[in-house]
Amino acid sequence: MKFDCKKLFQEDFVAMLAPSYVIDFPANKIVGMLKKLGFTNVVEVAKGVEMANNISMEYIRSHSSQKYFISSHCPTIVALVNNRFPELAEFLMPPRSPMVEMAKFCKIEFPKSKIVFISPCYAKKNLEAKNHSELIDDVITFSELAELFKEHSIDIETDFGFQRFDVEGESAGRKFAVSGRSDSAQYLKPMLKDEEILISSDIEEILHNLKLAVGGNLSYRFFDILSCRGGCVGGLAIVSRDLPVEQRIFKVEQNS
Ligand code: SF4
Repeated sequence: MKFDCKKLFQEDFVAMLAPSYVIDFPANKIVGMLKKLGFTNVVEVAKGVEMANNISMEYIRSHSSQKYFISSHCPTIVALVNNRFPELAEFLMPPRSPMVEMAKFCKIEFPKSKIVFISPCYAKKNLEAKNHSELIDDVITFSELAELFKEHSIDIETDFGFQRFDVEGESAGRKFAVSGRSDSAQYLKPMLKDEEILISSDIEEILHNLKLAVGGNLSYRFFDILSCRGGCVGGLAIVSRDLPVEQRIFKVEQNS
């Protein structure tokens, strides 16, 4: 259902922006644009990356004998494992995603506000956010947001004056949108060897390795896997789908 912007003027709302937003919207204007639409506060989900990484690290530390660890912040991967590789479902890490951790943070920081996640994909909207409805009140995809801006005559060319995020993310967190750039290998190093970590957003490679994992015949133990090519820069709700993935990655890295 389409997001009704009228409610933004009836109570406080926080917009939580996924790091890949820079592919579709200008980093120096997006806060002004969202506040013009009616949001009270605008925060970067990138802030939640470190929180999610810390929780994952703690989980691996306390389950060091577990055979595999499959990251669970991509809902499409979670659905793939549950549906096609149910034998591996027990290795899915507890659902700790930057979106969820940031929503918990916002619940404390802005206790009277409703929380809206601004998403590069439909999977976060239709799968993951629905499982966390106690934290996330609504989800708007990038393409839906572009439509809302258009309907409300909020033009990218307008000078909104530079406005800072109410909560900013760190550089490493902003890179989370790109497969393999969230420093997962770095934070895992004390616990796992390089050759035990699979970082991939190539669905063929992912399927191949999950099949091998079912047979127990694999040296990888940690799967940092995302279903869209290049990571969340490849999300299906991104407006600039014609932009080559390499250029989308460049935009994210420039903003990090
Ligand atoms: S990899 Fe794609 S489907 Fe998975 S969370 Fe990122 S944008 Fe969504």
